[in-house]
Amino acid sequence: MAQAKKALAKKSRATARATKRTRSKTYHNFIGGRWVPSQSGQWLENRNPADTRDLVGRFPLSISDDVSAAVSAAAAAFDGWRRTPAPRRAEILFRVGEILIRDKEKYTADMTREMGKVSKEAGGDVQEAIDCTYYAAGEGRRLHGFTTPAEMPNKFAMCVRQPVGVCGLITPWNFPMAIPSWKLIPALVCGNTVVIKPAEDTPLSTYNLVRACEEAGVPPGVVNLVTGYGETVGAGITSHNSLRLISFTGSTDTGRLVASACAERNAICSLEMGGKNAIIVLDDADIDNAIEGAVWGAFGTSGQRCTASSRLIVHKKVYRQFAKKLVERAKALRVGNGADRAVEVGPVINSEAVHKIMGYIDIGQHEDGATLACGGHHLTKGEYAHGYYIEPTVFTDVEPNMRIAQEEIFGPVTSVIPTNSLDEAIEIANGVRYGLSAAIYTQDVNRAFHAMNETYTGIFYVNSSTIGAEVHLPFGGTKGTGNGHREAGTQVLETFSEWKSVYVDYSGKLQRAQIDTVEL
Ligand code: NAD
Repeated sequence: MAQAKKALAKKSRATARATKRTRSKTYHNFIGGRWVPSQSGQWLENRNPADTRDLVGRFPLSISDDVSAAVSAAAAAFDGWRRTPAPRRAEILFRVGEILIRDKEKYTADMTREMGKVSKEAGGDVQEAIDCTYYAAGEGRRLHGFTTPAEMPNKFAMCVRQPVGVCGLITPWNFPMAIPSWKLIPALVCGNTVVIKPAEDTPLSTYNLVRACEEAGVPPGVVNLVTGYGETVGAGITSHNSLRLISFTGSTDTGRLVASACAERNAICSLEMGGKNAIIVLDDADIDNAIEGAVWGAFGTSGQRCTASSRLIVHKKVYRQFAKKLVERAKALRVGNGADRAVEVGPVINSEAVHKIMGYIDIGQHEDGATLACGGHHLTKGEYAHGYYIEPTVFTDVEPNMRIAQEEIFGPVTSVIPTNSLDEAIEIANGVRYGLSAAIYTQDVNRAFHAMNETYTGIFYVNSSTIGAEVHLPFGGTKGTGNGHREAGTQVLETFSEWKSVYVDYSGKLQRAQIDTVEL
């Protein structure tokens, strides 16, 4: 009898644990300070791209009613938050930073599991969120305006920042915590309230960030999270009349839709979009260093970075040597599940990405006629059977106008393009629709500065890869990459605040600007 009771207790503990496990896999939207399911009653599955049998969690498959509820909550919270002194807002945000540090390991593991990036890089992504949080929170005691002389005597002129209002934040899957933090934390320190929608493939990392905000004491309604598809939740946010600003990061095609919807209703719109970034390698470069930069830039995050080095423009004098070494390095890269610390290249994000990348590999070989120097396979056997794995792929003898050298592939594929001179290399680097990042490897400071001056991108590196942005410098691109805004640095404050010019006339009489001039 006692034994049966014991067995029953054990079984019920096991059931409770199992239920808890199942429960812990179901996540909710965060609206007005409460965790709630979608009004659709439906769910979106978040699966591990390294092994799709692993269900990371179920997230709300939200609809426009959820967006409206979140916007209403954010609008209701706006006055309270904007009137909270900025240094007080910042104190709460510093606490967010502390929580991110405390739970960095867990967030890193969650990110590798839902997005696939290798552990070390996932840790870097979380670290970027920590850096951004501390840096932007520091602005709570700055948010500088300025004073300037007035035209009239006994008159004072100054400019102050004010928050924009309720902001919609739409983010991609490739930097699942860093990019949400780039938008969320500066928006909050400026006094805005937000509705954030993460990419459908990676909601958990944004969930973790929002939970940290809740724990840190961000008041209810100030941050609202709605998960779901772009066509419903994203479009619902973009077109919602009460959202004064949309900050979007994603593909250029989606960005164009976002921009049109914002133009319709005269909303502010900040766009960070695609890239087709080039490394120029000159004949005097330290080739081994350039190879390291190229490998890291092309195959880090499996090539799924907006700043990925997808074009390597190499001087003909060192071209063969460079290509040979690059291929050797690419072939030696260990592909696999990013949770394994020995792995250097993780899976790509989903089956559509496999389809798109393999399509470009086919175009490279057949339509473009470039040489497939290594890789090119979709890995499907053994340890790769349940994930989305593509071999690190190098095309050589690529012409600048080929599609693989013009279009964003967003996978572990890079193109080596021979060049005769620095000026030709710069022309090739500039000859794409995007303008995010570029790099040069040379020992000659004159040539490095010349390239820096002539390359029309938002980011430029000398003797370093096209990736590696730091949060205290502005981030963004020209042409098809952006629309003139910048994230990070103090420049992000220009997006999330508006200027108010203030004139204080203490002359005690009417002084008419441009009319009552002072006699000299
Ligand atoms: P995507 O454009 O498919 O999606 C981005 C976000 O937009 C997602 O949250 C998605 O759900 C949402 N969305 C989709 N359709 C929408 C619509 N009609 N209205 C509103 N929102 C919609 O991009 P992605 O595949 O998630 O990300 C990869 C792209 O992001 C690449 O092009 C990459 O270069 C770019 N990116 C740019 C930067 C940058 O800072 N420049 C950084 C990271 C990624």
